[in-house]
Amino acid sequence: MPVAPRCNLKCIFCDHSLGVSCHLPSPGKSMRVMSVQEAVQRVFEECERRPRLRIVGVSGPGEPLYNPATLELFSLVRESRPDLEFCLSTNGILLTENVGALVALGVRTVTVSIHAVTPEYADRVYEWAIIDGRRKVRQVGADVVRRQLDGLRAAARAGIHVKVNTVLIPDVNESEVTLVAQTVAQAGAEIQNVMPLVPPAGGEGLMAPSGAALLSVRRSASHYIPQFLHCSQCRSDVVGVPGVDIPLWLAD
Ligand code: SF4
Repeated sequence: MPVAPRCNLKCIFCDHSLGVSCHLPSPGKSMRVMSVQEAVQRVFEECERRPRLRIVGVSGPGEPLYNPATLELFSLVRESRPDLEFCLSTNGILLTENVGALVALGVRTVTVSIHAVTPEYADRVYEWAIIDGRRKVRQVGADVVRRQLDGLRAAARAGIHVKVNTVLIPDVNESEVTLVAQTVAQAGAEIQNVMPLVPPAGGEGLMAPSGAALLSVRRSASHYIPQFLHCSQCRSDVVGVPGVDIPLWLAD
């Protein structure tokens, strides 16, 4: 459910402004943002229409934990549907302080997006970040990585199953992904999803990795953590089984 428009981070491959009114089948994209009330209503309608639906997720178009609407949605759905599962994708910057609330809402699975663990590499992936309410530009890598790993450890300690998404960005973090695998496994992550970059429109010099490069990186990362190989890089406004899901605005 696309209830989280704002983001506290700027990844080089993500164009916040394209995130809302885009038709592109790109991770995190959505046609538009929904209000909490509209999203709750839609969840109940879709569950009525598709009784096998079991999971309600929030993955964007911005950062779910940077938008109060995310936990509001889960809390309102939980009131009348205790049987549904929740899942959440986050960039991890605000995860530590939200672990308690997630456990209280019965969130059992969280995906944390971690694209580098060495500050120098992280500085090449992140252009700016909002840390402790202050916007930092340049050399934000060390702060972002610390927050992400602290949040991952806290979630794992609290019994939440953690998956890590890592975008493979040629000429930026290719030689770093295996170290990400090793580090997040030690921090408590259970599985890693190395995703090929989907170059954004206007993304100067950013290219998708070759199939061979993706395979090679996944193979070396698999020495440290199991690899998730069925990702269909869903948008943040879809319904149905991943891979055969459809945008909500087509499901109307
Ligand atoms: S954290 Fe997600 S929404 Fe924010 S800039 Fe990165 S990819 Fe885009």
